[in-house]
Amino acid sequence: MSTYEPVIGLEVHVQLKTESKIFCACSTEFGREPNENTCPVCLGLPGSLPVLNERALELAIKVGLALNCQVSPRIKFDRKNYFYPDLPKAYQISQYDMPVSSKGYLMVVGAGFKPAPTPPHPSLSPSEGERAKVRGRRIGITRAHLEEDAGKLLHEGIKDGSWVDYNRAGVALLEIVSEPDLRSPEEAFQYLVSLKAILQYLGVSDCDMEKGSLRCDANVSVRTRGDAPFGTKVEIKNMNSFKAVQKALAYEIKRQSEALESGEKIIQETRLWNESKGETLSMRSKEYAHDYRYFPEPDLVPFSVTNTRIDEIKKSLPELPQVRLERFQKQYGLSEYDAYVLVSEKSLADYFEASASEKVSPKMLSNWIQSELLALLNLKKVLIQESPVKPKDLAELIRLIENNTISGKMAKDVLPEMFEGGKSAEAIVREKGLVQVTDTRLLEEIAERVIQANPKVADEVKSGKAQAIGFLVGQVMKETQGKANPRMINEILSKKLALSTRGKA
Ligand code: ADP
Ligand code: ZN
Ligand code: MG
Repeated sequence: MSTYEPVIGLEVHVQLKTESKIFCACSTEFGREPNENTCPVCLGLPGSLPVLNERALELAIKVGLALNCQVSPRIKFDRKNYFYPDLPKAYQISQYDMPVSSKGYLMVVGAGFKPAPTPPHPSLSPSEGERAKVRGRRIGITRAHLEEDAGKLLHEGIKDGSWVDYNRAGVALLEIVSEPDLRSPEEAFQYLVSLKAILQYLGVSDCDMEKGSLRCDANVSVRTRGDAPFGTKVEIKNMNSFKAVQKALAYEIKRQSEALESGEKIIQETRLWNESKGETLSMRSKEYAHDYRYFPEPDLVPFSVTNTRIDEIKKSLPELPQVRLERFQKQYGLSEYDAYVLVSEKSLADYFEASASEKVSPKMLSNWIQSELLALLNLKKVLIQESPVKPKDLAELIRLIENNTISGKMAKDVLPEMFEGGKSAEAIVREKGLVQVTDTRLLEEIAERVIQANPKVADEVKSGKAQAIGFLVGQVMKETQGKANPRMINEILSKKLALSTRGKA
């Protein structure tokens, strides 16, 4: 075990899904012509005045409540001054000493899992080997405050200078700051997955990192393992996926540990993650740190939010991932792990529930969604909400396995056809004559033949090497062109070789 222990705190910026910007009526629609969504307010023209978008405040309070925060009864905005061309007013309206929400926490479920790869479901399908028991850890939320987003500078492909697009300037942002409670890059990854799930359940944001509606800066220091005080932190920016956050943290922890090991001191600085090089590079040290000269925004008068309003918003909260996770275990008898995987992505959990309402085995359903269906969706780059195989269709396929019409193996061939051709499971099974051989007499005959033809393997099985039976099952399957029921073959062979049946295919 390394002598150094990482200490991590994350700052997440999330764009709130409001139709208009936070202080003006401009549209927030993504992908419009550059500077189409602008007006005197978000361009910072003299004489214009901001007006708070009530919906942005409502969404911010929703997040605060879902993160178990105290919601401030008093709403106040401040100016954060800095000069950069993406900020037309040369200050950002933000919140300094009175954030909408503070002092909350988030249960990070699955802290301890290794994260998993590839869109469209980046949080899903850790390999079998990683199916450790789900654990939860409570991570403190320091604060969540409202602010306006900045514009975007465009440098690429432009000779002589840069261009600026102010469509994003003034879009409502919520900055969610965690306590330095995270202790590994994996845990940071899981924190992000859990946070994103909550935001998606609340419906407050697209959470699309590619479009920049979710962005994360990571703060990390290392200290001697145990109770030593925190070390000097470094802030890392420029990661554009949760995976990248994890990789950048791992790189940085190694860099800092090695530096300390060789007697160097860590300096407080901001570093940029370079994805292609896989390393962090210094951007600016604390010496050049900004003095933001915060002061109360004089154009927006502080005001109060009544308890009645906060209670109303509380009542409107949907079922959140943590609660759904527990319900999935109770209601469907799923393992904590399976429930966790389904629940982490709202669309996946919704699909599962829609399919489970067709009264098929939830466990089987969960397996089919997590393995076969997700594999197909990933391969074809289709989101589960747009799956051509609807929840009802998948349930129909599973019912055919349950009532022994087809084997699981056959079903694996049927599913891609359903996906491609839009035909029902039953129609494909009928067309292909895929009906399972369940004639016991016939199977017994074939099993006998296979045993005679493979005396060595049969002896191995008899002498206790139970796994060897798999080969014989495979041979029977082959003889029936894959149409036999593997569980039946297993039972027949076991009986013939006087083994106790294992009940497993
Ligand atoms: P700053 O004033 O530099 O913005 P903050 O105290 O506001 O620093 O913390 C910013 C983020 O850094 C928070 O997410 C916090 O949890 C994290 N953080 C603070 N101190 C440390 C530390 N020593 N090591 C790692 N992360 C830290
Ligand atoms: Zn505007
Ligand atoms: Mg700070």
